[in-house]
Amino acid sequence: MNKYISVKNISCCYGKKEVLSDISMDIDKGKILFLMGNNGSGKTTLLKCLLNNIPIQKGSILFDGKLVSDISKSDFSKMISYVPQNINLNCDLKVKDYLVLGRNPYIAFGSPTSSDYEIVEKYALQTGVLEILTQPFNSLSGGQKQWVTITRALIQEAPVLVMDEPMSALDLEKQAELLILLKRLKDEFGKTIILTSHNPNHCFCVDSIVCLLNHKHVLAFGNPKQVFTQEHIYDVYGPHILLRTDNLIEFSL
Ligand code: ADP
Repeated sequence: MNKYISVKNISCCYGKKEVLSDISMDIDKGKILFLMGNNGSGKTTLLKCLLNNIPIQKGSILFDGKLVSDISKSDFSKMISYVPQNINLNCDLKVKDYLVLGRNPYIAFGSPTSSDYEIVEKYALQTGVLEILTQPFNSLSGGQKQWVTITRALIQEAPVLVMDEPMSALDLEKQAELLILLKRLKDEFGKTIILTSHNPNHCFCVDSIVCLLNHKHVLAFGNPKQVFTQEHIYDVYGPHILLRTDNLIEFSL
């Protein structure tokens, strides 16, 4: 049987520089996959390959049995919503008008309708951004922008959610809220979620699978306990990071 998302022996280069080499993995429907690894290990590039935003030189990527390169842009936007890494866009729109862009895949012609704005309000209520809907996006803090962009991805109502470092600008309270939200999206709505993070502790907090990248290769793939062994942690993060007996990671300086 086909896996929901299947990455088969892909390699990816920027010019002559290979940044992903012979990467393979399968992701089942309704799972949370954390893509982990140091800066420059290829996480964002792998997400871009999954999103068909950059070409691969070898191998193939299949979504639900179809090559990603064969899926039309409009079908793709109904299948996958994406939270990019840098949300430093200059956007004069009010938050509600920024959020309603998440309905674009369903708007054939013209403008969003009142029912699109009702969907915006439904998700804004769930994520707690209702009270900032009339503020300009530009006036928000970095963390608020990140949270609003996550809300926009939910408004897209795609079965697959791909997020590049969604925790990077969030305070600890919001990180916990996002982990709870991810768990709910998986358990109650069967979403498949792929995200990157720099904190291995995030992976232990939810039922997840981890792909640990190291120097353009997959070093380990499996549940967090299988992947974050002391040996792998040493290889990737160096001597100052330790795995505690309760499966949390701590600094050892
Ligand atoms: P990560 O997300 O794990 O930090 P990236 O996928 O962003 O890693 O980068 C992997 C490697 O590819 C790095 O060496 C980076 O410098 C390089 N790289 C990323 N984007 C480009 C680009 N547009 N052009 C050339 N090299 C790039």
